[in-house]
Amino acid sequence: MRIPTRCVRLADPRDPYGAVAPPLYQTATFRQESAAEFGEYDYTRTANPTRSLLEAKLAELEGARHALAYTSGMAAVTALLGLLEPGDQVLAGDDLYGGTARLLGRIAPERGLTVRFGAATDPGAIAAALARSTRLLLVETPTNPLLEIADLGRLAEIARRHGTLLAVDNSLATPLLQRPLEHGAHLVVHSATKGLGGHADLVAGAVVTDDATIHDRLAFRRNAEGTALAPFEAWLLLRGLKTLAPRLAWQCRSARRIAEFLAAHPAVERVYFPALPDHPGRAIHERQASGPGPLVSFTTGDPELSRRIVESLELFTIAVSFGAVGSVASLPCRMSHASVPEELAGRLRPPPDLVRLSVGVEDPDDLLADLERALARAGAANTLASQREEQRWEPAALNSAGASRLARPEPADRPDRVG
Ligand code: PLP
Repeated sequence: MRIPTRCVRLADPRDPYGAVAPPLYQTATFRQESAAEFGEYDYTRTANPTRSLLEAKLAELEGARHALAYTSGMAAVTALLGLLEPGDQVLAGDDLYGGTARLLGRIAPERGLTVRFGAATDPGAIAAALARSTRLLLVETPTNPLLEIADLGRLAEIARRHGTLLAVDNSLATPLLQRPLEHGAHLVVHSATKGLGGHADLVAGAVVTDDATIHDRLAFRRNAEGTALAPFEAWLLLRGLKTLAPRLAWQCRSARRIAEFLAAHPAVERVYFPALPDHPGRAIHERQASGPGPLVSFTTGDPELSRRIVESLELFTIAVSFGAVGSVASLPCRMSHASVPEELAGRLRPPPDLVRLSVGVEDPDDLLADLERALARAGAANTLASQREEQRWEPAALNSAGASRLARPEPADRPDRVG
């Protein structure tokens, strides 16, 4: 069975009523036959049938034996750190989701771990950066938000030779496009909030592995710490998974058209999209993945112009996150990646003029028209702004020009609250 078919076939064959849609077991506890006998389920923190079905499905889609669902993507990434001992080192790619950078920069050292960052696009640099104490190599590919590509096969080979675990954050590609375990990774981690859920109505994470020992350690810890996904979110996620294939196929097609449109636009300096002919990682990505994904990033050379473009869009909501059915625009430097700790900002904070688009399932012609309009409007606003600059003596005009949606609470000033 191919992946799109697997996504739809979710019914549990053991269901006593033959329910076609998975039942939601919204219960904290399960009745026991006696005080000494536990059934398959006893307490939802430990296990729940709705979550078990989800986990079986996630494992199947990634081509693995085991999956564990967590309360969020960050809880799943944090779970990876639980596999390490104080003194161990994490070597991470240097284009990472801001929250992962915050976890590695702030929390990992508190647990006695050391963290290094390296260019995941350069296997030679990764091999050279591995230390005796490196126990975990953590990469994204394509990366968020610069859509850089790491060669999973080569990284897996390096990690195995060194006795290091390779974990791949597969949130962007999802198993529909890329299955890192097939390329030799030991672990796959997901923010299922993104494409897997696909509707921006849940927060969830997952860790997938083929290794029973690693799975048992993670499951023990998840139960002890209480970070398992709640049944309702598991149920919503199962519902989202059913349409993963048509959603993502449509999103990839539209994203490609948008990337091509932006690449030809004179106001755009550079487009980051793994299917463009000049993308340095294109050949590798095409070898290891079956589509580019829903994200397109671009720069304009001018942070203010980028901000005006984002604020001029009407069909792209200004919001963090990606992968959902509704298109979203963001300025990663000020939003999703504002949580990168200051000391890592030079290396891990994206360029200030970078715009990230997450392309949804709207009609692509509408999205292209919206972008064209926003680029034109942002250019017009630019001219108006410089005229206002020349009329500095007119304070009322300046005040009205200063009002903007992003100018309210500065996300960069409140890194602990930024998603
Ligand atoms: N990994 C990636 C690539 C992400 O983009 C995000 C969130 O944006 C996460 C992990 C964290 O996931 P969550 O927000 O579900 O905790």
